[in-house]
Amino acid sequence: NKLLVIILLSFAICCLVLTVALTVEPTLTEILHIGLEGEVSVEASELEAVSFDFGRLSSRGEKTTLAVVRPASLDDVVKVVKAANKWPPFAVSARGHGHSINGQADTRMKGVVVEMGKGIKGPKVWEKEMYVDVWGGELWIDVLKATMEYGLAPMSWTDYLYLSVGGTLSNAGISGQTFNYGPQISNVFELDVVTGKGEVMTCSEERNSDLFHAVLGGLGQFGIITRARIALQPAPQRVRWIRVLYSNFSTFSKDQEFLISLHGKPASQRFDYVEGFVIVDEGLINNWRSSFFSPSNPVKISSLNADGGVLYCLEITKNYHQGNADSVDEEIQGLLKKLDFIPTSVFTTDVPYVDFLNRVHKAELKLRSKGLWEISHPWLNLFVPKSRIEDFDKGVFKGILENKTSGPILIYPMNKNKWDHRSSVVTPDEEVFYLVAFLRSALDAETLEYLTNENRQIMRFCHDSEMKVKQYLPHYTTLQDWMDHFGDKWTQFNAMKMQFDPRRILATGQRIFDFVQ
Ligand code: FAD
Repeated sequence: NKLLVIILLSFAICCLVLTVALTVEPTLTEILHIGLEGEVSVEASELEAVSFDFGRLSSRGEKTTLAVVRPASLDDVVKVVKAANKWPPFAVSARGHGHSINGQADTRMKGVVVEMGKGIKGPKVWEKEMYVDVWGGELWIDVLKATMEYGLAPMSWTDYLYLSVGGTLSNAGISGQTFNYGPQISNVFELDVVTGKGEVMTCSEERNSDLFHAVLGGLGQFGIITRARIALQPAPQRVRWIRVLYSNFSTFSKDQEFLISLHGKPASQRFDYVEGFVIVDEGLINNWRSSFFSPSNPVKISSLNADGGVLYCLEITKNYHQGNADSVDEEIQGLLKKLDFIPTSVFTTDVPYVDFLNRVHKAELKLRSKGLWEISHPWLNLFVPKSRIEDFDKGVFKGILENKTSGPILIYPMNKNKWDHRSSVVTPDEEVFYLVAFLRSALDAETLEYLTNENRQIMRFCHDSEMKVKQYLPHYTTLQDWMDHFGDKWTQFNAMKMQFDPRRILATGQRIFDFVQ
């Protein structure tokens, strides 16, 4: 009897110890005791802050983030990832500037958010070699400031510069320069990456090239980018910034496609930036992305005979050095002559190069002052093949949107041959494809629901008309949808995940792979 009691008691104690081991969060203890140089925070307010992103689509009620780590070095990132691989494993998501829409920089399950933040040393410019080395959490605005001190700048941008290098390189990084230089991921020479196994690997075209291509556009799945070496060129001083309007979509898209066909020509024979937007309701001619139409704008949309109530604005720029101002005007006139816009609709302005690149920040400050920045953004970004863009115009701009937009809609074409097919990013299977970006905001729950439904309708319309669009900054919640998204690239994407993050601890907020418990 005594023996039985001892056995039962020992068994009960073992069970108790095991239960405690499983329920107390040993991971947290581990994180706090791995000797980081940087900071670890478990403050409720900080944990909550990282559960929000720019999308603000819902606050994730469940408390999934156990700690926020602010690494002070590459070594700190390695320590966190290595700790995450020990039993029991936990998720690790790098967070650049948290400007995702659907919680991609969150962990979505018990884990640690690594707030990459600014590099300790700041960007290092290699003047002679014409590249810059930057920490993965560095913001593009700081990269620009650092390189401009040497009269240099990266070639390919995003419209907004308060995004981190690691964040945009995990997607692609696109803007009006992409037709000529490719996305930002086409302008990287080398990366340092902490893989999901906690190994530090330097990769490039020549070295560990599998990892290099996988990480570019890889949605954070294979490793945390701690250093990127980015190509530079001499920076221009000023920018002539031009907008012209079209009332006919075919003419608009024909002109946009003509302008991007000039890629690779000498700078004097092409524009430096080609974008555009759709104006579905009159209020939007002066929205936050198009504020340079003056309030005393003499052009009334109603007078322009808009095709189906919709107008299209082509936005182009020409970079120049102060000394070349005269020849720049001639070059612009020569190019404008080849276009077929509404002759009375030309708006031109002239700004310093840095002000042009940083243009959206100005709009951000205005919106912030009115409390209109930190609100919900049910954004939808699509790559639409050129062969279907007219159908998209008819079905969506002139159909589903019903003359109401709640935010800017960007549209511009890109050349596929400027994208490296070995990167993880997926684009339509045509030589030219368009970005169509619905950058909309919702002040209240009703508008949010309305716009979310409209996004679903747009996706259904594309699916039913077999348009073969691809989401940019993709968001899916089922494995099948992800496999469909990646198409032919899925096998490689999956193989790279098995190789570099076999426990699937990284960037779980993307909802691609189930975490291995
Ligand atoms: P986060 O939201 O912090 O992270 C995004 C993803 O990348 C997450 O999965 C995260 O885990 C991962 N990640 C972050 N850092 C690293 C790292 N160092 N290593 C590995 N993975 C990492 N995009 C364009 O291409 N062109 C535009 O013109 C453009 N304009 C925008 C304007 C605004 C106002 C906003 C809000 C977004 C815009 N975007 C644009 C989208 C933007 O590029 C992406 O959302 C990008 O991911 C945001 O960068 P971030 O630093 O905030 O990333």
